[in-house]
Amino acid sequence: MSSPRSVWLTRQLTSFAVALLIGVTVFGTSARVDSAVVVAPTTPTPVATKPPAVHQGPFALIIVVDAARYDELDPARMPNLAKLAAQGATYVNAYVGQLPSLTEASHATIGTGVLPKRHLILGDTWRVPGSEQMSPNLLDGNLDRTGYISKLIQQSGSPSLASILHQRWPGSIVVSVSGHKVYAADAMGAGGADFVAFGVNDSRGHFVPGATPGHAPAHGIMLSRQLDLPSYPRTPGLEDQWTTTLAEKFLFKYHPRLMMINLPEVDTIGHLAGTDVTVMQPLLSGVDKQIGRLIAAYGRAGMLPQTDFVITSDHGMTPAVHTIDTGVVQKVIRRAGGQGLYVGHGDYCQVWLKNPEAVPRVAAALSQAKIANVAAVYMRNAGGKYALVSAPSRLAAPSVERAYSDLLGTLNQGESPDIVLVYDENTITMTPTFIKIGRKGDHGGATWGAQHIPLFIAGPGIKPRYTSSYPARLVDIAPTVETLLGARPQRQDGIPLADAMVAPPAAAMSAQLKRGPQLAVDVRAMEYEAALRPNLH
Ligand SMILES: [Zn+2]
Repeated sequence: MSSPRSVWLTRQLTSFAVALLIGVTVFGTSARVDSAVVVAPTTPTPVATKPPAVHQGPFALIIVVDAARYDELDPARMPNLAKLAAQGATYVNAYVGQLPSLTEASHATIGTGVLPKRHLILGDTWRVPGSEQMSPNLLDGNLDRTGYISKLIQQSGSPSLASILHQRWPGSIVVSVSGHKVYAADAMGAGGADFVAFGVNDSRGHFVPGATPGHAPAHGIMLSRQLDLPSYPRTPGLEDQWTTTLAEKFLFKYHPRLMMINLPEVDTIGHLAGTDVTVMQPLLSGVDKQIGRLIAAYGRAGMLPQTDFVITSDHGMTPAVHTIDTGVVQKVIRRAGGQGLYVGHGDYCQVWLKNPEAVPRVAAALSQAKIANVAAVYMRNAGGKYALVSAPSRLAAPSVERAYSDLLGTLNQGESPDIVLVYDENTITMTPTFIKIGRKGDHGGATWGAQHIPLFIAGPGIKPRYTSSYPARLVDIAPTVETLLGARPQRQDGIPLADAMVAPPAAAMSAQLKRGPQLAVDVRAMEYEAALRPNLH
């Protein structure tokens, strides 16, 4: 890529050239119609030649490296990422900024620009309002392939990045893809994407492209031999590579206005390896290769100078330096008279009770039990807000309580957990299954290891070599991409990351200045809490 300024100039000039082309075509067409009706021309009208394919930007590409920790997407070890980062903005304090810090909830936020309390993807499962039942688990592949998650998002009335771009650029294409993570692709499409594709095992056991109903691409992509693997790709790096190939097919076939890609493997393997660099580093080098392939593909497609790139993750990964036995939590719940409906896992613990009247008693018991590495116990009180039940002195500073409350406020709904245990840094829940398979990492909660994420934005609309300390959140990605692509954010919880933009709208600048200070206090508090309990060898 050339310098952003010259890229910007190219973009302006290209727009001008296309405007001219369109003008000429329109003029030419009407002239031919007139001449056909009125009188035959004395000189032959030149045959309208189809103009060379001009893929008119602006475009955007969002790459979500599932579960990549802030320290894992390291430009010093990732040359392709480094090149991109040098031409754009790096957010060093970016964080998930919501609970849960979980794939489907985070991708729904990326795809909508609203928080879980609005898009209502509140976790893998949640209480069906007014019942003693949990909702179907969103990790169920058969359910997800029906487009279940995007339907839920649409029912919530949330806006979507895809439909806002469709309004601004009628007829343009938005694509959302993953490897096996249907729930990432469907959530990120949020019901507005034209195409939602991913990998599935077919009746022969082959790993091939699948799509949600009504969102399948051309047969050429679905039946591509290059995308037909003899089985689920278990060789590390192969699934991310397959996903990138799928994305390339979409790129050349449709030249999408926006493409959103979930690369799933850092999560799948991170759960088993934690932060073990000997396992994770080769995988991250593979991710860098895929980033390089995509940059090259956008170049070949003639779209690179007009494309803004966003590279981020949906959440981090907390290593199992400390573990909490789910059985211990369940025992405390039972002894206090609680009937557990669902007790979750992650670097936090969500509790739903069948007997809500027991919530205050159970929350108090969980607090008094002083379970090692439980930093805080919160419960949803009668007013529908999460309140700290455990001793504030257990936290490093009063500002930590506010930071956790702000995070809990992003998922607060009638369906949300009755009680939430916030863990110390580097602590995860162990269930009997996790003990058996030797789980070494998890996420979902409020530890800084799960919350702190990488965020790089680069392209014609973005300042080069810019480092931002602004505490960007996942919810800001959609409004940022909308703004970069000339659309206006609509009723969204996030704000455009104006500080990185070459030509930010004034309203976006002032929104960011207003929003920043409290988020910065929250981020510092979480970092402080994590630093006091480093526990990483
Ligand atoms: Zn995960």
